[in-house]
Parts: sequence; C-alpha cells; structure tokens
Amino acid sequence: MIAFSRPSFGGMELRYLEQAIRGGHVGGSGPFTERAETLLEQGHGTGRTLLTTSCTHALELAARLLDLRPGDEVIVPSYAFVTTASAFMLHGGTPVFVDVRNDTLNLDPALVESAITPRTRAICIVHYAGVGATPDTFRGIADRYGLLLIEDNAHSLYGAWRGKTLGTFGQLSTLSFHATKNITCGEGGALHINHPQFVERAEILRDKGTDKSRFVRGETSKYTWVDVGSSWSISDLLAGVLVGQLERFGEIHDRLHAIWNRYHQALSEWAVGGGVRPPVIPDGAKHTSHTYHLRFDSLQTRTRFLNHMRARDVTVVIHYQPLHVSAIGAKLGGRFGDCPVSEDAGDTLVRLPIYASLSDAELDHIIESVGSFAP
Ligand SMILES: *Cc1c(COP(=O)(O)O)cnc(C)c1O
Repeated sequence: MIAFSRPSFGGMELRYLEQAIRGGHVGGSGPFTERAETLLEQGHGTGRTLLTTSCTHALELAARLLDLRPGDEVIVPSYAFVTTASAFMLHGGTPVFVDVRNDTLNLDPALVESAITPRTRAICIVHYAGVGATPDTFRGIADRYGLLLIEDNAHSLYGAWRGKTLGTFGQLSTLSFHATKNITCGEGGALHINHPQFVERAEILRDKGTDKSRFVRGETSKYTWVDVGSSWSISDLLAGVLVGQLERFGEIHDRLHAIWNRYHQALSEWAVGGGVRPPVIPDGAKHTSHTYHLRFDSLQTRTRFLNHMRARDVTVVIHYQPLHVSAIGAKLGGRFGDCPVSEDAGDTLVRLPIYASLSDAELDHIIESVGSFAP
C-alpha cells in the first residue's frame, strides 16, 4: 500500500537528537530551540519566531495575545482545520465562519467585509495547500477596520505572495511541524511575530506566564508569575530534529515541487476530459507543494474514486469537513447553505500522496491508477 504521507529524515536529524541528549539540555529554551528560531527568522527575513509544542498551541498563544472578551469575534474560513477556529474559542472568542473562494479554497475577501461587526477583533486566514490567500488584500481590510490579521501558515512555510514571504503579512502567523507537514519534528509549531509589541508578552505566555526569559537573560534576579499563560515551549530534543529538517528544507522542497508538477502535467488532460478540477495557482502565488488535490463533480464520484484507488493499493484521503456545520459550528448557529463552497469541497476533494521519499516508481503507479479512473 502506498502511504498518503511519510516524514523524510536524513542523517542530521538523528545526529542533532543525539547531541541534544548528550548535551543534557532536553527541556525548553535550549540551544537547538535558539538555532531553529534563528533559522526561521532568517527565512522570514523579518520578525521574531518562538517555537511551540504545536501550531494549535501557537494559535492559542495568538488568541491569548488578543485578550479576547466574551462576545469578541474572530473571522475564520469554514474550510479549515478544527483548531484554526477552536484555539480562539478556548480563549474566550467566538469564531465567525466565512466561505472560501471556489478556485483556491482560500478565505473569500469579497465575503469578509459583510461579516465584520463591532465585536470583530481579528481575521485568521489559512494559505490552503501552501497557496497564498491574497494576504495583502486581507491586511488592507484588517487595517481599515482596526483588526489584527493572523496567518495560519501551517501549509505554507516559505511560500510567497507577490514576492513577499507568507507569514509576514499578519501581525502574527503560525507554523506546524506535525508529522504530516512539509518539514516535521513529529509534533511542533511556531508563532512568528511581526509586531514587536507582542514579543515580550508572547515569551511570558509561552513560559507558564512567568518572566523566566528575562531571568535567563540576566535582566532580573528572580522570576515570578506575571500573566496567565501555559506551557507551550518545545523540548530541545524535538528542536534538534527540527534544525536537521530546516537545514534540508531546499532538498525536501525540490522533491515536493517535482512531484506536484509531475501530477499537474500528467493529469491535466484526464482532468479536463472528466470534469475534474485540479488545483488553481493564481498569478503572484509561489506555493509550497504541500498538497496535490482533485475535486470531483459529486460525493458519489469521489467515493468511487476512493474505492478505485484503494483497490490499486494507493492511499488517497479527503480533507476538511466544513466547520460551520460541525457539531460545534451548528451550536454557534451554522446552517447548511451558509458556506456552499466549503460544503462542496468537503464532499468532493481528494488529496494524492506527496512527500519527499515517494519514489518515481510509486509516482508512476499513482498517476497510472488515477488516469485509469473514469469520472
Ligand atoms: C496541521 C494544521 C494545524 C494544526 O497543527 P498542529 O501542529 O498539529 O497543532 C492548524 N492549522 C492548519 C491549517 C493545519 O494544517
């Protein structure tokens, strides 16, 4: 069976893990954490990066920085990961679900302005599949209404929009290093901060609400409880693995791009002939090849496709189910028909395997299997 996703580790990840164990600093805020944060800051070209235990926790840290009060609203796409919405809810906010565009499945700017109310505090965009969600447009809207822009950048490390790196448009952006992401340390994430006023408080919130970072830097003689935070620092063992992955970023990405381009070339004629929609990459987007997805005309056709691929030993998987009609979304008032594109994508989208260790023979077999399906 060809797996859907598989991490790609080289030699250095193991070496750095061993070095972290032998070095003795295995808790948070160690030397590998510092190295990974520096590499990510250099990669973004601006701002401060704080490694966290996950992207979910980075989103929670962002939510805490907003100091949400009951009734405060955060606009999120309905077609998104659960914690893109729940992180804000867990820290006092109410997610407001807005539909996505039919081409890129990114939040639709044309629908966002009418969702803004006097209680709106922030807009959180997802660069779905690593394709920029017109972040310049959203930054303009957010600035006009005095809102914060947050980028859930879990799919899109070092992608760009109109020449500017994704993750640098919002005041805050988040990354995931979960096992299924382009580079991984198993479980991990980061908060990237482009707004200097948030840096010191974010360090405090990540470190149990204490000013321990100042103590470690020798700026204070003792550390104490100064804010209501949590334990969101990553172990230096995992940060070591992450440094190894960051150093191999170019190699991993070249392979992901080659696979993505091969799918796109080999399947385009088949897709057009069968009414299947391949991914759309708009002008201005430098995408990250995080996902290669296809959309069929109906749930029935997709189910036939899933069975067809399973019979040929290829794991293909569906993606998000629209959040506004989930059990929690419905409690918040979401109804079928509110976000028709998200609902359609939930029924019709399938993702093909894409990871650096996918072999050419496996790729050939997947393409041949897809091409033999009659939509
Ligand atoms: C994976 C993912 C997350 C959550 O990442 P974790 O590191 O597993 O918490 C959040 N948002 C998006 C868009 C994701 O793809």
